[in-house]
Amino acid sequence: MVAGKMRITGISAWRVELPLFEGSYKWSGGNAVEVFDSTVVAVHTDAGLTGYGEVCPLGPAYLPAYAAGARVGIAELAPGLLGLDPTECGNLNRRMDQLMRGHPYVKSAIDMACWDLLGKATGQSVATLLGGRCGEDFALYRAISQQSPAEMAAKVAGYRAEGYTKFQLKVGGDPDTDIERIHAVAAQLQRGDVLIADANTGWRQHEAVRVAHAVRDVDVYIEQPCLSYEECLAVRRHTDRPFILDEVIDDLGMVLRGVSDQAMDVINLKISKVGGLTKARQIRDLCVSLGIAMTIEDTWGGDIITAAIAHLAHSTPKEFLFSATDFNSYVTVSIAEGAPQRAQGRLAASTAPGLGISPRMEVLGDPVLVVGKMPWGS
Ligand code: MG
Repeated sequence: MVAGKMRITGISAWRVELPLFEGSYKWSGGNAVEVFDSTVVAVHTDAGLTGYGEVCPLGPAYLPAYAAGARVGIAELAPGLLGLDPTECGNLNRRMDQLMRGHPYVKSAIDMACWDLLGKATGQSVATLLGGRCGEDFALYRAISQQSPAEMAAKVAGYRAEGYTKFQLKVGGDPDTDIERIHAVAAQLQRGDVLIADANTGWRQHEAVRVAHAVRDVDVYIEQPCLSYEECLAVRRHTDRPFILDEVIDDLGMVLRGVSDQAMDVINLKISKVGGLTKARQIRDLCVSLGIAMTIEDTWGGDIITAAIAHLAHSTPKEFLFSATDFNSYVTVSIAEGAPQRAQGRLAASTAPGLGISPRMEVLGDPVLVVGKMPWGS
């Protein structure tokens, strides 16, 4: 063993259920989730340090990713990672990409755990390692689950009382109802509020053009109206509303293509969608250089993902951080101590080493996957 090198000796995973305070979360196409199925990953090392990550797809209908698939994929990848230095995140990612083509969400929690280890090994927070905290904290958005226009409008006051000023409506349903949803919520807004209408790929191109035209006098961002990049680009060229791309921006190449086509003003950067913090940082830094703002988040998750989001978001220059998400405030189960907690609609990354979290093992229970050696001898 080379002096100073750390080696991966084992990888384990847990399955944990995360119910929602509001009972369910509904978006386009009649999709809904009541209980999220999240996977916590631990990367164990010969240095006596363990790093933690988490991945939580938004159900199989959202992106090409599903919870059981994350666990099957991690089981497939893990044996090939034993013996690698987890603090060499670039080498680790290249190895994962050699072992398994695609499947970025499978790699995300492992990469996240390795950043946690890099921080613990160096005594630095992940935010510091990602460039350093920008300011004291940052603003979050609140997703407003798809309901009737009146019900969605009624949610705004309560969320504002919790400190939120950025509201993301789940639209992408019947276009006439969506037009009503956007107008009803817009009527509740105050100066300084930000409104986003996120169709989550739910509209056909002609429907999206109709909605965009009908809300042309509303101060609203249009997010991911249609399934394909080409349809979204066509809609973009028909509207002067600010435009966000999310589902189709799944790697660096798509960011470059979008910038080249002037296809968006903002992207939604989800950590697991692009394969982890290493790749998310690369995209984040490129967007900062090219002038594209970002919502920084993930598909869903609990305390560990919320911590990872906080480190990436907090180390992003404020003028390029459009918003971020605190998933741990949406779910009823806490899976880790030390995770950031929302205060007045804002969040701050921990200054403790690594991600700054320690999992609640009593909540996680028994692991569903053990590869290599567990430090506690099982
Ligand atoms: Mg979105």
